[in-house]
Amino acid sequence: MKRILVTGGAGFIGSHLCERLWREGHDVLCVDNYYTGSKMNVAAMLGHPRFEVMRHDICQPLNVEVDQIYNLACPASPIHYQFDPVQTTKTSVIGAINMLGLAKRTKASILQASTSEVYGDPSVHPQPESYWGNVNTIGPRSCYDEGKRCAETLFFDYNRQHKVDIKVVRIFNTYGPRMHPNDGRVVSNFIVQALQGEDLTVYGEGTQTRSFCYVDDLVDGIMRLMATPKGITGPINIGNPGEFTMVELADLVLRLTGSKAKIVHKPLPQDDPRQRKPDITQANQVLGWKPTVALEDGLKQSITYFRKLLENKDQRPAVIGAARMAAEAAVKLGT
Ligand code: NAD
Ligand code: UDP
Repeated sequence: MKRILVTGGAGFIGSHLCERLWREGHDVLCVDNYYTGSKMNVAAMLGHPRFEVMRHDICQPLNVEVDQIYNLACPASPIHYQFDPVQTTKTSVIGAINMLGLAKRTKASILQASTSEVYGDPSVHPQPESYWGNVNTIGPRSCYDEGKRCAETLFFDYNRQHKVDIKVVRIFNTYGPRMHPNDGRVVSNFIVQALQGEDLTVYGEGTQTRSFCYVDDLVDGIMRLMATPKGITGPINIGNPGEFTMVELADLVLRLTGSKAKIVHKPLPQDDPRQRKPDITQANQVLGWKPTVALEDGLKQSITYFRKLLENKDQRPAVIGAARMAAEAAVKLGT
């Protein structure tokens, strides 16, 4: 049994990770400021002696005794990370310094949830870890992209300078149950819109591509990385190389939900990457990892989750029109 800190543990990915670690018998400390996360995501574990939640912003120092740290705290959806861009950069950079300081003192292994956004709008396709990226430093996505890039720099400097045991994973678009219905990301938007019979908002012509990884596969990949010996640092891509255009995704969601909704086109957000697909050779060779859940199967699980959420009378007010509002917010922000 290890004492494991998960920052951002009440968020979408964090809550799945907390649950996996807790089920495996570890002592889990979930730290979250509830910026985009929710206590509901970890409700099943509340009150159990091996699970603890602390309301805390990682921009402030944290003094706890732990063996491992998964640093996931950071809003991940463009509408949320662009709502308060200064806080986004602070969370990535100051948060990383605080968590690396904690790892240095406690000699804990620390894993950073980095992102495929470090590749920006990539000119190399698919993206291997050796690609340095094509990122705008001053655009609306920069607070997130450059924050995450700086966090990677800090991780590798703490490793070289202070011998901290670091692991850096570059996560590609991940989806699944517990995504926030108001999150604004494409999978949750399309499913919630389709289930409510609202038009599916495809930004631009919808020819841009993304590769979607089911959350259980992702959690398996990052736990495998954490289990590697000291010295295996990454960065390692974790994602599903299946590549889909946004129109293909919209059609698939319409078919799987049986919805009669239509597709409408909205303006393409600024700096929206045109293509994205992970090269997962490293994950395969170093971690023996590859994704196991096909997009269609993962979407079915997610549709079941959102259908239940919509049927739940207590949750319904929060969900009605949520995807439409998120789509409108994205257009207003000119994201
Ligand atoms: P999420 O928004 O659901 O979760 C982020 C969590 O961090 C939330 O619970 C939020 O309240 C918390 N948080 C934000 N700022 C904080 C702060 N300053 N202090 C403490 N807690 C804070 O997003 P997610 O999809 O679960 O993403 C988790 C991590 O994975 C993020 O670091 C994100 O950048 C990374 N990632 C996610 C994806 C994806 O497709 N979901 C892709 C690439 C990288
Ligand atoms: N997108 C879309 N309709 C939506 C939300 C997003 O067409 O309602 C597009 C968006 O422009 C992008 C892709 O879907 O090209 C993935 O967007 P998301 O916000 O999920 O993630 P990211 O852009 O960070 O990969």
